[in-house]
Amino acid sequence: MADRDRPPNGDQKGYADPMGTPPRDLGPLFASMAPPPPAPKPRPKPLHPDGDPVLAELRRTFGHAGFRLGQERAVRASLEGRDVTVLLPTGGGKSRCYQVPALILAKARRGPTLVVSPLVALMEDQVQALGRIGIKAVALHRGLPTEQKRRAIATLGEQALIYASPERLAQARFRKKLAEVGVCRVAVDEAHCISEWGHDFRPEYQQLGVLKAELGVPVMALTATATPRVMQEIRSSLGLEDPVAVLGTFERDNLTFSVEHFKGDKRRLERLVALLRARSLGRDPKQGKVIVYAATRKRVQAVAKGLREAGMKAGYYHGGRTDGARSAAQERFAVGKHAVLVATTAFGMGVDLPDVRLVAHIQAPGSLEAYYQQAGRAGRDGAPADCVLLYGPGDALTQARIRGPNPSPGAEQGFKALQDYVYGTDCRQVQIVRWFGSETEPCGRCDACLNSADVAAMVTEARDQITASREAHAEKRRADARVTLTDADHDTIVSFVRHLKRPLGRTVIAAGLRGSKAKRIKKAKVEGNPQFGALKEKPETAIVRAIEAMLDDGRLTRRGKKYPTVWIPGKRVREVRPASGRTPTEAPKGLSGALRAFRKREARRRRWKAYQVFPDVLLDAIVRNRPATPADLLALPGMGAARMSKFGSQILEIIREHA
Ligand code: ADP
Ligand code: ZN
Repeated sequence: MADRDRPPNGDQKGYADPMGTPPRDLGPLFASMAPPPPAPKPRPKPLHPDGDPVLAELRRTFGHAGFRLGQERAVRASLEGRDVTVLLPTGGGKSRCYQVPALILAKARRGPTLVVSPLVALMEDQVQALGRIGIKAVALHRGLPTEQKRRAIATLGEQALIYASPERLAQARFRKKLAEVGVCRVAVDEAHCISEWGHDFRPEYQQLGVLKAELGVPVMALTATATPRVMQEIRSSLGLEDPVAVLGTFERDNLTFSVEHFKGDKRRLERLVALLRARSLGRDPKQGKVIVYAATRKRVQAVAKGLREAGMKAGYYHGGRTDGARSAAQERFAVGKHAVLVATTAFGMGVDLPDVRLVAHIQAPGSLEAYYQQAGRAGRDGAPADCVLLYGPGDALTQARIRGPNPSPGAEQGFKALQDYVYGTDCRQVQIVRWFGSETEPCGRCDACLNSADVAAMVTEARDQITASREAHAEKRRADARVTLTDADHDTIVSFVRHLKRPLGRTVIAAGLRGSKAKRIKKAKVEGNPQFGALKEKPETAIVRAIEAMLDDGRLTRRGKKYPTVWIPGKRVREVRPASGRTPTEAPKGLSGALRAFRKREARRRRWKAYQVFPDVLLDAIVRNRPATPADLLALPGMGAARMSKFGSQILEIIREHA
């Protein structure tokens, strides 16, 4: 329960901070604003004639009547100079937690507040919104035109808030500048991006610990989604000292959660259409918006098409579209040209649409945290909304594929939590809130609350089906294991290998012989092989076993260093040009080129952006310093332990190769 995430000082009161907490002493800030006590003069007029300066700021500048749950405690703790962690649900008003202190501090000439934010669009939105209410703020990021950047840098000291991307903060020069202008507070937004355990890991966040060390000012870390474990990582990574922990309530009492189990994909689309029709959603945007999440770009497109064929006004959004197409899709959805947006997880951070009446997942997301964050985009206006998760056993495989060959342990655990949720029979809201480390009463609205018997039956059936399909698989494996290939089949295999242009792995050969159309087989360019598909009827395992037997008896031979491949004994392997058709002039040159190529490979493999593997500044530093030992490499600014453990040895090897 929540205790796991409580600070050691037992400071628990604010976890459900009633709004009426009496204002605490504002400490050094206001002490310093008060004049020294040369007695006879009359006291100067108080700066805030209407009483509490904090509340006054909130009312006057932002026009809010009062604080929301948790906000006040965060604001006051920050003004007192404490480190703070803020865990408030999306829409809970996290930005005010650092904006209000920032304003008060800036007015008191204490200096600007630095806000670290992961998304350029988010920063820009905030800066514009602040500008409209007369607050000086700038955003510094890669996309800024040079002239604007110059002007922004020149005026840093006058700003109340300085928004910057983590990449920007990786530059020591920029941090020095921030120290010079006297940044007095740091706020790290979307702080869960620090954690490899979270669902939104951004490597460059792991370097933000230097801010505390270099600027020496109180830090506030904010997120809408962090398990106790992720919170712990945030605290240690940012170097927070005995932070005040503000934890909002994660219950959303206007949301109704439910889960439905399916065997395959087709029925899920039908069900989705039915869900929309039953709510009169999908055609007339005035009835409310719908977000449909799918796990892959391909599925996003297919679902959008399916919905349109069913007469729905649906657009789609995923990371594979151009920036222009993405923002156009978002815009059409926001203004109500489309009633439905089908999207991957790429959609949503920073999106705040009031009238989303249904968030449907037509495939499972990667973790329970991701689920709650996405589902939580429903009902932001406070009116009732539904969150439906359509789950199929194949989703586990899809997510495993998305996690890739070397997933972080957190990624696996996150999905495990999601599975516990879909196969769980407790109140959905209770399950979710528990995962976030708190407690709540059963909601009385979700499927598990309303139809507990049905849910239990559905879950049992889904579990039974998985068991049955596992057994069927095992049975097929046993049957396959009994199949042995004929002598003619063995000859066919040898003939296939003889016709190869270069050695290939066993399973690729087996798949080629079976005529597989899979991408990796296409890549191997074996479709023209005269034996392609010649062993269509034979199980892959039997072919692999036959290859292994022939490797043992010498009809075939092993090749390859990195991974074993199969070849004809004594036959020369001719040099083959790489299939990509890259001309030699484009080949990467020197260490810098090799590092770039490595980075590109890793980024593609992990579905990261290249700079997340390592940013250019770090790449340049490596090329300049040519570190020879792990310690030297680790010492480069921005390298960090996480990056070191993932890429360190390979980077050092590349450096050695170019010595
Ligand atoms: P978060 O970052 O937690 O998702 P925001 O900071 O964007 O949330 O705030 C969400 C909305 O709530 C904004 O429209 C903001 O104006 C509003 N809001 C924040 N604090 C208050 C408050 N104390 N009273 C009324 N509205 C508030
Ligand atoms: Zn419930």
